[in-house]
Amino acid sequence: MRALVVGGGIGGPVLAMALRRSGIDVTVLERSAFHARDGGSWFTVTPNGLSALAAVDALDPVRTLGSSTTGNLVLGATGRRLGVIGLGAPLPDGTPALSFRRPDLAAALLDLARDRGVQVVEGARVTSASSGPDDASVTLDDATTLSADVVIGADGIHSVVRRAIDPTAPTGRYLGLVNFGGITTGHAQHGLAPGVWTFVFGRRAFFGALPLPDGRVVWFANEPRPAVSADERAATTPDEWRAHLVDLAAADVGPFADLIAAGRLDLAADNTHDLPSVPRWHRARLGLIGDAIHAPSPSSGQGASMALEDAVVMGALLGRHADDPAAAFSAFDAARRRRVEKIVAMGARSSSAKTPGSVQRVISEAIMRLVFRYVVTDRAQEWITAYRADLDTATAGS
Ligand SMILES: Cc1cc2nc3c(=O)[nH]c(=O)nc-3n(C[C@H](O)[C@H](O)[C@H](O)COP(=O)(O)OP(=O)(O)OC[C@H]3O[C@@H](n4cnc5c(N)ncnc54)[C@H](O)[C@@H]3O)c2cc1C
Repeated sequence: MRALVVGGGIGGPVLAMALRRSGIDVTVLERSAFHARDGGSWFTVTPNGLSALAAVDALDPVRTLGSSTTGNLVLGATGRRLGVIGLGAPLPDGTPALSFRRPDLAAALLDLARDRGVQVVEGARVTSASSGPDDASVTLDDATTLSADVVIGADGIHSVVRRAIDPTAPTGRYLGLVNFGGITTGHAQHGLAPGVWTFVFGRRAFFGALPLPDGRVVWFANEPRPAVSADERAATTPDEWRAHLVDLAAADVGPFADLIAAGRLDLAADNTHDLPSVPRWHRARLGLIGDAIHAPSPSSGQGASMALEDAVVMGALLGRHADDPAAAFSAFDAARRRRVEKIVAMGARSSSAKTPGSVQRVISEAIMRLVFRYVVTDRAQEWITAYRADLDTATAGS
C-alpha cells in the first residue's frame, strides 16, 4: 500500500511512522520548510499524547526537547490562589507531561520519520485532493499531481483535504480570544514555581507562564476581543503588540507586565478558533486526522495530544485494513469521535471562562475556588490523560 499524508505538523509525521511499521510506503507533503525554526508557540503534551509518541518509539528521541511540567496553578487578578489543575499521572517510567516549543517538536518528528524511511517533501503545498475507486490523488500548487492508495489529511484546522471530502464541511469558529506568546531570557523568574504553568485570570486578559530549567520563562496572553483583522495585523509591529500586552497586564498582581516588557514576542495576535464537529471524516480513499477534524481551543491543552492519539489509531487501522481503506476510516470514526468531540466541547467552555461578560467572569473568585476544588479535579480529568492509544488495540479507551 502507498499513502500520501498531507501535513507534516504534529500528527502527520507520527501517522507516517505508524504506517511504516505496517510496511506501508509513505510520503509526507508539508507546505512549509520546518527547518526555519524561529518563533512559534509552546504547548504541553499530557501523558495520553506522550504514550502515543511512545507507541511508535518516538518519545525517547524527542523527550529532551520537552520541559517537565507537573501542573497548572491558577491565580486570580489579585494573586489569590484559585486552584491547581493536574496534568495526569506520569507514565510508568515517571515521565510527567512535557512542554515543547511547537516548531521544535514538529521538526524533530519529521526528521525521525525521514530516518525511518518516510519520504518527506517540504515546500509542497497541496491545493486539492480527489479519490476514485482505485486510487486517490493530490495536486500541488506547482500543478504536480501525485497518486497513492490513500490520502490522509493531517493538514490542520484549515484543511484542504477536509474540503475535498465534503465541500460543505464546517470551518473554524472564532472563540473571542486573541493569543500572544513569547519568551523572556536572562530575567528573574519572579518566584514562579518550577515545572508548573502559572495561570492568572487577569482583569483584562488571561495570562500563563512556565519557567524553564535553563532560566528562561515562556509566557502567553489571551486577550478577549474581536478577531484581529489582516489590516490591523499588517499595521502593528511586535513591539507595539508587546506594549499593548504590558498595558493589559499592568492592572494585575504578578510578574506578567515585567516578563512581557523584558521578553520577545514569538506568537503575535493569533485569532483563536476551534472546530467542534465535522460530520464527514472520510470519503472513499480520503481520510483525516488531528485539527483537520476536531481542533480544540488552545485552552483545552489537548490539541496536540489528540492529534498524536489519532495518528497511532489511524496508523494501526490502516495497517489492519490495508486492502479496504474505507473500512479503516469507518473504524477510526467509531473509535475516536465521541472522545475528541467531548474534549473540544470542554475546551470551548474553558475558553469562555476567559472572556468578559460570561458567567464565569462575574462569579466571585470564591466560587471559582470551589469549581477548581470539586469540578476540575484530577479525577474528573482522568478520562482524558489516562487514555492510551496503542498500535495493537486501536480502539482502546474510546
Ligand atoms: C497558541 C496555541 C497553544 C496550544 N497549546 C496546546 C497545548 O498546550 N496542548 C496541546 O495538546 N495542544 C495545544 N495546541 C493545539 C495544537 O497545536 C494543535 O492541536 C496540533 O498542532 C494539531 O496537530 P495537527 O498535526 O493536526 O495539525 P498542525 O500541527 O496544525 O499541522 C498541520 C500541518 O499541515 C501543514 N499544512 C496545512 N495545509 C497544508 C497544505 N495545503 N499542504 C501541505 N501542508 C499543509 C501545516 O503547515 C502544518 O505543518 C495549541 C495551539 C495553539 C495555536
